[in-house]
Amino acid sequence: MKNEKIPYKIYLEENEMPTHYYNVRADMPTKPAPLLNPATHQPMTAEELEGVFCTELVKQELDNTTAFIAIPDEIRSFYKMYRPSPLVRAYELERKLQTPAKIYYKFEGNNTSGSHKLNSAIAQAYYAKKQGLKGLTTETGAGQWGTALSMACAYLDMDLKVYMVKGSYEQKPFRREVMRTYGASVTPSPSDTTEVGRRILAAHPGTTGSLGCAISEAVEYAVSHEGYRYVLGSVLNQVLLHQSVIGLETKTAMDKYGIVPDIIIGCAGGGSNLGGLIAPFMGQQLRGEANYHFIAVEPASCPSLTRGKYAYDFCDTGMICPLAKMYTLGSNFIPSPNHAGGLRYHGMSPVLSELYDEGLMEARSVEQTAVFEAAEYFARIEGILPAPESSHAIKVAMDEAIKCKQTGEEKTILFGLTGTGYFDLVAYQQYNDHTMTDYIPTDEDLARSLETLPNVKLC
Ligand SMILES: *Cc1c(COP(=O)(O)O)cnc(C)c1O
Repeated sequence: MKNEKIPYKIYLEENEMPTHYYNVRADMPTKPAPLLNPATHQPMTAEELEGVFCTELVKQELDNTTAFIAIPDEIRSFYKMYRPSPLVRAYELERKLQTPAKIYYKFEGNNTSGSHKLNSAIAQAYYAKKQGLKGLTTETGAGQWGTALSMACAYLDMDLKVYMVKGSYEQKPFRREVMRTYGASVTPSPSDTTEVGRRILAAHPGTTGSLGCAISEAVEYAVSHEGYRYVLGSVLNQVLLHQSVIGLETKTAMDKYGIVPDIIIGCAGGGSNLGGLIAPFMGQQLRGEANYHFIAVEPASCPSLTRGKYAYDFCDTGMICPLAKMYTLGSNFIPSPNHAGGLRYHGMSPVLSELYDEGLMEARSVEQTAVFEAAEYFARIEGILPAPESSHAIKVAMDEAIKCKQTGEEKTILFGLTGTGYFDLVAYQQYNDHTMTDYIPTDEDLARSLETLPNVKLC
């Protein structure tokens, strides 16, 4: 098929969908640092982790050596309801930008939850169900993860408790109703339903909450209720593993048409979509088989890779979760309230942190008004209303395409279009009303939140 004209959309056949997840850790010469017990600072054992996560997921979390892990048939059946997702050639965007670059995006917004998060939600819910658990707890910020997990739990007939960052709970009532429609119970966080929530409320009355705080509450509920486990929608090794379906499908579709990307771009919050998209390509790079330019894009208002520190930190504000070695802004970092574009987690996936630290990936930060400008430009040309998170990747893909116009280089640019922005219209409204502003934390702001890093001898 190599000389065939590339269609606008490349869809795979069902039988071309991945049968195995790809674990990039297997090909990493230096493995991501292990999670540590927050009390003893010793690596978390499987047994300790099983108090919080279900057994199969603990196995995946700790497995740094198995390259391919079979996707159970039940999960593959669920995937077939909304996958394979299309790999789109952005012909119209190329034309409008008058660039010689070839732009492709992998579109993950074609499901009701509106993002890639469903890929890991169904896997995590499936393994928990298989273990005979009754229900799951989780946190959600903007609401995409909570929605995805609600869909997965509804499908598998499991109970779900979602702690939703209070600011989002109030700003996004429709997101909340989607979750409730799929049967989840949704509590604004911090709440008085947990000890850690009450502690945070006492210390910061009137707080609009944060992801780190909602995580603490969800974990507390899970460990204090029989038959419940906690699940997380990003950051963890297991989540990147599940999201490898994005990259595997992309690679199969590109190979089919003989397309080789030069630049691979993704937005980075906790790192799961980017980690999943780049996984098979990074694997090739690590094995010395290919050479790609990987770019992680993060908000200038929450710049964990570009301005954070690579150190052990708490994953949550309540400091009850395991410690992870990652690029972090400090577990009590809360982005400025005017930040509307998602990607607000203080840390970054340990896998991506290690790859970035080794110089295998570039990171860029972009300001939110520029992101929404790119989002609107893209929506008007390619038709899709992108999620603000995804639009970070759009912005940098457009920047790179414009560079190609200047240099005349015909680079092939691939980016992850992680989701749609239908629930982000308050943010779009701010942009359209010109009330959106940019806020970049000062060095002093960051120094203050980094002061709370735990003192871990091992790292
Ligand atoms: C959650 C989310 C992200 C960021 O999460 P990662 O784990 O960094 O991928 C990006 N885009 C969308 C649409 C999301 O919902």
